[in-house]
Amino acid sequence: MSDLNFLDGNAAAGLLSEIFAVDVTAARGMCSHCGDQAEVAKAHVYPNAHGMVLRCSACGDVLAMLVEHPGRVSIDLQGLAWLQLAVDNE
Ligand SMILES: [Zn+2]
Repeated sequence: MSDLNFLDGNAAAGLLSEIFAVDVTAARGMCSHCGDQAEVAKAHVYPNAHGMVLRCSACGDVLAMLVEHPGRVSIDLQGLAWLQLAVDNE
């Protein structure tokens, strides 16, 4: 099967750099577990030796996990139904 309707991942570089250059703590997200919508800054953060876990301030379920490795960071956002970030694209 040949699918030519996609672009190389580098095509997303501009948008991704725009997204991750913003203050993510000001972003709003929705908890996948309870549906609470709040700014990331309102999440409860539990730092540990490898990174941190962000938990929903309403139900306590995990919203996101950040794991630091040498030279990179892994981000698990499975606990967020969505994440809304402000960008300057007007
Ligand atoms: Zn929740």
